[in-house]
Amino acid sequence: MAAKPISADTPQAQQAKKEILLIFDFDNTIIDKNTDSEIIKAQNLYGKCLSGKRYLKNDLGWAETMSLALADLHQNNISQKDIDKIIEDIPLTPGFETVFEFIRQNQEKCECIMLSHSNSYFIDLLVKKYSIGDCFDSIHTYEAEWMKDAPLLVKPYHPFLVNCQICPPDFCKGVFVETYREQTEWSRDMKWKNIFYVGDGAADFCAALSLQCHEHVLTRTGYSMHMRLLKDKGDKFKANMIEWNNGHDVEKILKSRIDDAI
Ligand SMILES: [Mg+2]
Ligand SMILES: [Zn+2]
Repeated sequence: MAAKPISADTPQAQQAKKEILLIFDFDNTIIDKNTDSEIIKAQNLYGKCLSGKRYLKNDLGWAETMSLALADLHQNNISQKDIDKIIEDIPLTPGFETVFEFIRQNQEKCECIMLSHSNSYFIDLLVKKYSIGDCFDSIHTYEAEWMKDAPLLVKPYHPFLVNCQICPPDFCKGVFVETYREQTEWSRDMKWKNIFYVGDGAADFCAALSLQCHEHVLTRTGYSMHMRLLKDKGDKFKANMIEWNNGHDVEKILKSRIDDAI
């Protein structure tokens, strides 16, 4: 049976017109702190912390690590409201309002996705607080769910464990970017004309290794990804690296390069 032609005004047709992919990390990129670090700090303050340090050293996936930290807080009577307050107190990275405006103005040609090792509950809180849900075509993160009379449960991203030397074994950003590129290009019968990856952390370095030489990695100056890029990018890193300090820098970089990129 022949494939149904895509009419001009369907969401699929609009999606097919987008030729540039923007990928944003969340913690320390869009927001100016790390959601999970804020929870672990609270656990150090309020939790029994019997095993707080052990979590970070062993081979648990990150979802299980965070679920244990949240369970510890729950046992110490830190409520959902308390957790919400810790997360909602996190500010946007300065200047990111201009990035959101840029995304809104360029939605016809750019698909914008979020890729984060935080979780769906924390991200939803802040996406609502800052009214930025309209900026993202999709959000890819750990699913998290409050169980009745129980702590927030964070679930592994991959249904399998990944052998990555950089990322947690339950969510490799490099595997995500490679798979996302393949799946979107195959299902939409197109090739991305360019990809811009904006991030700060070590896992973003893993994702950056899968980008090609005409694609761009925007790395926050002085943060882990930048340090790794300076130290050991080796032959594997092919993309164009550009540094940024705040949202104004990101907006300027995207603005100056996006038209050249088409
Ligand atoms: Mg980050
Ligand atoms: Zn990885």
